[in-house]
Amino acid sequence: AKVLDYFETRCQGSKRLSEQAKQVIPGGVQHNLAFNYPFPLAIRDARDAHMTDVDGNRYIDFLQAGGPTLLGSNYQPVLAQVQTLLHECSPITGLLHEYEVKLAELVCQVMPGVEMLRMMGSGTEAVMGAIRLARAYTGKKRVIKIGGGYHGWSDQMVYGMRLPNTGRMEAIGIPRGATATTQESLPNDLDAVRRKLMWNRLRGGTAAIIVEPFGPESGTRPATRDFNAQLRKLCDEFNALLIFDEVVTGFRAGMGGAQGYFGIKPDLTILGKCLTGGYPMAGGIGGRRDIMMMLVGGIGTTSKRAFVGGTLTANPLSCAAGYYALLEMQRTQAAVKAGRAGDRLRQGLEQIIERFGLPYVAYNMGSIVHLQTSGVMLLDTSNLLKLVRAKNEAKARKHMMEEMGAAYTAHGVITLAGSRIYTSLADTDDVIDDALNRFED
Ligand code: PLP
Repeated sequence: AKVLDYFETRCQGSKRLSEQAKQVIPGGVQHNLAFNYPFPLAIRDARDAHMTDVDGNRYIDFLQAGGPTLLGSNYQPVLAQVQTLLHECSPITGLLHEYEVKLAELVCQVMPGVEMLRMMGSGTEAVMGAIRLARAYTGKKRVIKIGGGYHGWSDQMVYGMRLPNTGRMEAIGIPRGATATTQESLPNDLDAVRRKLMWNRLRGGTAAIIVEPFGPESGTRPATRDFNAQLRKLCDEFNALLIFDEVVTGFRAGMGGAQGYFGIKPDLTILGKCLTGGYPMAGGIGGRRDIMMMLVGGIGTTSKRAFVGGTLTANPLSCAAGYYALLEMQRTQAAVKAGRAGDRLRQGLEQIIERFGLPYVAYNMGSIVHLQTSGVMLLDTSNLLKLVRAKNEAKARKHMMEEMGAAYTAHGVITLAGSRIYTSLADTDDVIDDALNRFED
């Protein structure tokens, strides 16, 4: 009741705008991450580690737009470079711009598995392109995704996507055939992956295994280095490509992403989010030169190619923003510092959980912090009884997380769905300690 009271008394401007939004925007919000309970907050400004809503309430920003702003929101040195560019050039020309080359050179320099880079419009598009490349290169058709991983919302990949903390399929409107060549394998189960690779041998083969290297859903269910290393071996054994989806981990796990962190080279890398430093059109396919060259073609070319496109991809604006953001991440050691903030926050959360005996667990991989209710495993659906139990518990968990998310907000901390936190370079010890006091309240 106290939480709802906060929203009713302190957030009238947000409430009014969300009511207005419902008339013209399905569900009243455009962004999937905008929470809706009891209604979404309308934000007036976001800078560094904080945001302020239209009613003037200030919040610690642990959503950080879902991960792209490792330097903190609206990082001023990057903004200054973007403004300079926009005074010189249109944000889009359709031709080549120097910043496209500079960004690609920098990414190739810091990411071990990236010899060439092709910009795309989003992480979703980059995944679609990488899978097409993998099929074109190997001549095989099936793709194994490691279960529960999110690889965007394309028809073939949304397969198996579940409502957070429930066993229920969220996506409808996808024809059966679209997912016929996508297989999902439970995380951390190498035997299951091997069985699928063997089965596929006589059924079109496996073009690629796609995985979030820190584990499904940004490491909600963590994966080890060894699991990734074994996937690398299996791909080599079965002549399939290994695709690391580094949309979240790219630059956040260090300049070399999870591949640098683990010391494992994928054949293709999906980039997004941090790639453009929080500016639009964040998507990129990186990888081995021989595979990437399958993209080449165009007017006057008769050679076959894996086609990708996008009117606004690779525009000077995104590339300049990405280039300067990556330089700043490198200069400031943003991943290390945001990682330390993540450690400090997780340690504090663990103490709170222990002190109050809460049914929670906090864990982190650097700047990606998870705060989950403890209980049944998300994907344990091995028999009907467990499935029904898991579904009921999951429903209760989801409701609890939603309420806790709103409670954190009412105490001045914005998280991702009450269960995930992205720290940034802007999270000083003072910010983290302030947040911990609020969590404790
Ligand atoms: N892959 C991963 C691991 C992601 O976390 C996301 C988005 O959150 C995507 C792909 C899709 O990227 P986008 O939202 O830019 O389409």
